[in-house]
Amino acid sequence: MSKTYLIIGGGQAGAQAVDTLRREGFDGRLVLAGEECELPYQRPPLSKKYLSGEMAEDRLPFRQRAFYDDHRVELLLGARAVRLDPGARRVWFADGTGMNYDRALLCLGATARRLDCAGAGLEGVHYLRNLRDASSLRAELRAGARAVIIGGGYIGLEIAATCRRLGLEATVLEMTGRILNRVVAPAVSEFFTRAHRERGVQVVCNTRVVALEGGTRVERVKCADGAGFEADLVIVGVGALPATELAASASLPLDNGIIVDEHCRSADPSIFAAGDCTNHPSLRYGTRVRLESVDNAFEQAKTAALNMLDRNAVHDRVPWFWSDQYEHKLLIVGLSAAHDECVIRADPLGAGFSVLYFKNSELIALEAVDDSKDYMAARKLIAGRNRLDPRKAQDWSRDLKDAL
Ligand SMILES: Cc1cc2nc3c(=O)[nH]c(=O)nc-3n(C[C@H](O)[C@H](O)[C@H](O)COP(=O)(O)OP(=O)(O)OC[C@H]3O[C@@H](n4cnc5c(N)ncnc54)[C@H](O)[C@@H]3O)c2cc1C
Repeated sequence: MSKTYLIIGGGQAGAQAVDTLRREGFDGRLVLAGEECELPYQRPPLSKKYLSGEMAEDRLPFRQRAFYDDHRVELLLGARAVRLDPGARRVWFADGTGMNYDRALLCLGATARRLDCAGAGLEGVHYLRNLRDASSLRAELRAGARAVIIGGGYIGLEIAATCRRLGLEATVLEMTGRILNRVVAPAVSEFFTRAHRERGVQVVCNTRVVALEGGTRVERVKCADGAGFEADLVIVGVGALPATELAASASLPLDNGIIVDEHCRSADPSIFAAGDCTNHPSLRYGTRVRLESVDNAFEQAKTAALNMLDRNAVHDRVPWFWSDQYEHKLLIVGLSAAHDECVIRADPLGAGFSVLYFKNSELIALEAVDDSKDYMAARKLIAGRNRLDPRKAQDWSRDLKDAL
């Protein structure tokens, strides 16, 4: 009898999973159920070219509807799954309907972490996770308006860059001592702080927001040290939380994400998970991680889809990520946490630089600013577990691979 494979969550991972399942010959019933009403679409432009108006909405979807029709993918849009019963292999949706599956794949993504201080519910306070958020924010980005961005992470900084491009005043408030604090080396934080300041962004670190003030609409952001920042709109970019409620309803083990193994399988053999919502093993780094990146969602979805077809595929990729701010591109490959040495390799003419992380002389991660050549070389070197001479690697006049 024909099997039903149900993919829940129509984002990056969900879209990739249906693609792989059909490409790899799955011939049964294939359902992609997603809470959002739009066809599955790319999120990165939401803080970049879609937000700035340079990219139209119709360029966001991965595929047009004809693709799903041609590949017999039943799209259930606007369908939020609210309960999962692994014993009965059944999912219930918010409208009360249910569906049985043979195998399910959870691609539920993450949700923006909310601010919980006084005034957080005022009008003019925005978050950015989906197209609806981006469209309502875009409608308020008028030249001359004062935007206060809470959080100096990727999304906050990309929004600040877009605000400046559109002629708004922009202030970034960061709680820790430097922007991008959790994710890059101090040299990279310094570079982007300078880039933003040169373009007129006020970057304020070591400041904790305690209240948003205003009548019905936000007018001011107050910080713990008494400082106040006048605002016509506020954008909150303080991180994201994995979407795990559905997995919790099925009593699947959770720990900052749905726990899956290297085959993207959860504790229930019929339920797989992929993307931002998972806590998964990184075989390369011997640790568990939860990653929020296009690459990870794409690769895990492929692995999960193959394993839904009993192919015994293993997810063992070196992760990578990018961020665009103004004309600058930041590329990160690998996980740097376990490093014992870190060196900077910089173009003497100032065109770009990379931060290289080593463990026992093995290159384990690299952060490249405007330097895609080093990034490409590092991807191969890291995947191949190559040892380099850190001193030679520092020397910009030679190719990175020549430091072997
Ligand atoms: C503004 C922005 C900019 C970004 N820029 C970059 C970038 O430059 N580079 C990069 O590598 N990454 C970037 N990312 C991260 C990247 O987009 C995500 O890592 C990726 O989309 C994760 O894919 P996913 O499928 O796991 O989750 P998502 O793409 O978030 O998809 C999850 C989907 O599941 C749906 N869903 C959740 N719960 C349910 C439920 N119970 N029932 C039904 N549907 C449900 C959600 O509504 C959503 O549509 C960015 C993210 C954002 C928000």
